[in-house]
Formats: sequence, structure tokens, C-alpha cells
Amino acid sequence: MPDGSAHLKTSRLPGSRTLRDAAGLVAAGLVPPEAQSGLDALSKTYAIAVTPAVQALIDLADPSDPIARQYIPDIAELTTLPSERSDPTSDAPFTPVKGVVHRYPDRALLKPLLTCPVYCRFCFRREVVGPGGGLLSEAELDAALDWFAATPQLREAILTGGDPLMLSPRRLQHILRRLSSIPHLDIIRLHSRVPVSAPERITPELAEVLAESDKALFLCVHANHEREFADDARAALKRLRRAGVALLGQSVLLRGVNDSPEALTALFRAMLAQQVKPYYLHQLDRAPGTARFEVPIEEGRAILRALRGKLTGLAWPAYVLDLPDGAGKAPLGPDFAKADGDDWVVEGPLDKKTYRQEKT
Ligand SMILES: *Cc1c(COP(=O)(O)O)cnc(C)c1O
Ligand code: SF4
Repeated sequence: MPDGSAHLKTSRLPGSRTLRDAAGLVAAGLVPPEAQSGLDALSKTYAIAVTPAVQALIDLADPSDPIARQYIPDIAELTTLPSERSDPTSDAPFTPVKGVVHRYPDRALLKPLLTCPVYCRFCFRREVVGPGGGLLSEAELDAALDWFAATPQLREAILTGGDPLMLSPRRLQHILRRLSSIPHLDIIRLHSRVPVSAPERITPELAEVLAESDKALFLCVHANHEREFADDARAALKRLRRAGVALLGQSVLLRGVNDSPEALTALFRAMLAQQVKPYYLHQLDRAPGTARFEVPIEEGRAILRALRGKLTGLAWPAYVLDLPDGAGKAPLGPDFAKADGDDWVVEGPLDKKTYRQEKT
């Protein structure tokens, strides 16, 4: 942490409003006053939002707090490396209709808005997300939903954004009803950071809207640290479970947040205790100004290897890299098996010894 950490140690009660600018972060004691002008400049490029729920999770006495690291902007974000790309997952060329991304044969994304409850400093869509951004007009939304209805090879609609749970229950209901009426869709999936960063949005009314659909509903909760599963987040997840929504967990491997076997163990256990099945652990997408979060793939594989066998198999996510140019998400291992002549050579997850099994 830069100087000013003494300032960070002053205690304060978590705020009651979402902080959206450098002055607000300074007033809350989340950044030192001398950082304000730099972060003012930064906020013109990348949106800032720190909700009351997130503020309550931050330990001001810890200069390397893993919650603060995810959400508090840093001037380093204005440095873009040559390896960083503004659209790292190449959404743009796979957009048949505004708000839709169609890359895989059986499923497509619907992005009804580009607003999020919080703005994560490592976000792969950071060039496009922001407050007031990207809400599809009624006509655009209808055109996107018509596209889903007219594309019979699809089995699954994936609502993302932005964050689809930032929609009003009424608007979400409209979308879910339209998607639920499409016979070739089996699954509706939502990706959201709302349950952990703005759990008060999971109202009984919203849960009711979700419970209405006859499709298989999955909600993929984005969380990166065990402490994100606080009391109010747990209550929100319970409301979602009661609405019949299957819960999955999605995380990004992040330097200084969850880059150790202990931190991932705690995260996955916190998820499972809320009946959230870890689904993906993402390698960081190289979006502009995110270099401080990158953990090399070798290290990611070694961390996961250390967990195998020691942690319930329910916890095991697929460690994936979203390839550039829309090539898709590819699993990164770690592998325990390799072919050797007529044999498979397989490493024992507990004893690390190698075992051989003939191919046939
Ligand atoms: C990530 C992504 C999906 C979902 O992929 P899964 O592997 O099914 O989770 C679908 N479409 C696009 C364009 C994506 O980027
Ligand atoms: S919630 Fe998701 S889309 Fe929104 S800023 Fe965070 S990582 Fe990006």
C-alpha cells in the first residue's frame, strides 16, 4: 500500500449509500486524500461503485484487504500493457443482434444492460460497463428475444451484462416470461454479483419472479473471497434456493485476493455451505490496466493441484481461460494423466506417486 495507510486505519461505520467517486472513497477512509486527484482522472475512464454491503466487508485496518483490492480503484489501472486488449473475450464480432453474443452452438448470451452493483477493478468488460450504460431499449430487447425464438439450435439463454439482477423485477419478469415461452430452450442461466455485493436487491418479489419459470434456472454467483458470504448474502442465497434456482459459483483467480490453496479452500467451502457449486475458476482476462491481478497459469495449476483430494470433490471447479478471438473457454488443467506408449500414467492426488494403466 502507498503512504497514507495510517489514514486507512481510522475506523468508520460502513456507509448507507454506494460510493461512486474518488471524493466518496476518501470521505469513507477507503483511499488516502492524496490519491483523490489521480482517481478522479481514472474515474473518467473506468466506473467506480462500492455498495454499502461491500463497504461493510472491508477491513480498514488491513492494508491488503482482499475485499478492498477487488473494488477500490488504483492509479495503476491507467497503465495498459501491450498484451492487454479492450475486448479480451471478443464479444463484438459474435453479436448477431444488439445485446446478444452467440459463440457456441447451443447457448447464447443476452446482455440486457451494462450496469453492475459494483465495478470490479479486474473486470473483463470494463471498457463497456458503467452506470446508466447499455440498457437495451424496448425495441432492442424485443429484437434480441425474437432472435432467441428464431434460433432453434439454442438450448440455453444466459443473462449477463452488466448484471441482470440490476434490472427491476418487472423488466426481469418480462424477459424471463419471453424466454420461458420459447420451446427449444431448456435452461435459463443468470450470471450475477448481486447476491454478494447488493444482497438487498434479492427481494421476495424478485425471488417470486424467478420462481415463475418452468425452465431449469441456474444462477451463477460471482464471488472471489470467503468473506463475501456474509449474513445478508447468505440470506439472499437462501431466498434464491427457495425459489428453485440452482446455484453455481464463478470466481476469477486474483493476485492478493484468492491466490493460495488456503484462500481457495475457504472460498469454495463458503460457497458449498450455501449450496453454491463452484463451476468456473477463471484465469484473468487481460483487460486494460488489470496486470496487478494476474496469477500465472503455472501457479494457478499448482494451487489447484494442491487442493485435489484434500477438498471435497464438490468444490472442484473447471479452471478455464477465455481464449482471444472468440475461440471459447478452454480448461487449463491441472492434468493428472498423460499417455506414455501403451499406458496412461496417472498421478495419485494424495501420494503424488505415479500409477500406470494400460490403454486397453
Ligand atoms: C462464457 C460464455 C458462455 C457460457 O459458456 P459455458 O462454458 O457454458 O459456461 C456462452 N457464450 C459466450 C459467448 C460466453 O462467453
Ligand atoms: S460485476 Fe462482472 S461485469 Fe460487472 S464490473 Fe464486476 S466483473 Fe465486470
